Amino acid sequence: MSTTTNQVPDVELNNGTTIPQFGFGVFQIPPERTADTVGAALEAGYRHLDTAQMYENEEGVGEAIKSSGLDRDEVFVTTKLANDAQGHDSAITALEGSLRRLNTDYVDLYLIHWPLPAQDRYLRTWRGFEEILRSGKAKAIGVSNFQPAHLDRLIEEAEIVPAVNQIELHPALQQTELRAYHQSHGIATEAWSPLAQADLLGDPILTELAGKYGRSAAQLVLRWHVQLGNIVFPKSGTPARIRENIDIFDFELDAEDLRVIDKLDAGRRTGPDPDTFNG
Ligand code: NDP
Repeated sequence: MSTTTNQVPDVELNNGTTIPQFGFGVFQIPPERTADTVGAALEAGYRHLDTAQMYENEEGVGEAIKSSGLDRDEVFVTTKLANDAQGHDSAITALEGSLRRLNTDYVDLYLIHWPLPAQDRYLRTWRGFEEILRSGKAKAIGVSNFQPAHLDRLIEEAEIVPAVNQIELHPALQQTELRAYHQSHGIATEAWSPLAQADLLGDPILTELAGKYGRSAAQLVLRWHVQLGNIVFPKSGTPARIRENIDIFDFELDAEDLRVIDKLDAGRRTGPDPDTFNG
């Protein structure tokens, strides 16, 4: 199997486990195409897969890992709790379903997908996650789409600080304050929709800068994420783009060009606002 795996740095999480900084996201990959698409990603050297119960494609992820011939411990697998399964016991039961569909004994990372503050169940859910961590069925636990107030509450009232917070993050939504919060609390930042779902790729500033490095705009943006320290997992259903996206470990943006991208921050979301999203 051809591989660029060794070029992807590992990031150490706050419980001592490590995660490849660069991976592959499978949101919106249709279930019947997931095994082939994830197979192409593994072939291209990706060793970190990001799925979720709500994506309804965990089976395909499990199938691709199995048919790759890789050992289970060579691939980092994240899944996320479905919104309608929040709660202490239901979070534990939902993970059993994921393990069955993924055909594995454990996940590397289990996340609460959304805080759903109006439902006020994330603290109880997190206590279920703490039990899961102790059971070994997840090697690390974390959250997604949590705002500082939600994180404050977990840190004050629960035992375990989330290992990661997976948030929408790209040049048009740089999340500077939330990233600083993460850093001061030992929480790793994962960036979802790192390409803003391809919205940004025609931006003239980005395309011009990409040309300077002889790269695509997607590669430029992904390289920016890596240099910022974000954990990132772009999605593509297109084999050539799958290979293109991971081919970013042989060039480096200089400080001035990083600042040019920093100036594109517009506080613009492509997805829901976590404070009001209710599942
Ligand atoms: P991305 O920002 O990764 O963008 C995906 C889009 O970009 C697709 O339309 C894809 O097209 C296109 N694309 C990818 N690479 C290229 C390229 N090199 N050139 C041109 N176009 C390209 O969006 P996602 O929303 O999928 O985010 C990535 C991952 O983040 C998800 O798969 C999921 O794992 C996670 N996520 C988590 C969320 C959460 O709430 N926790 C919410 C949303 C995402 P094509 O497929 O046709 O190639």
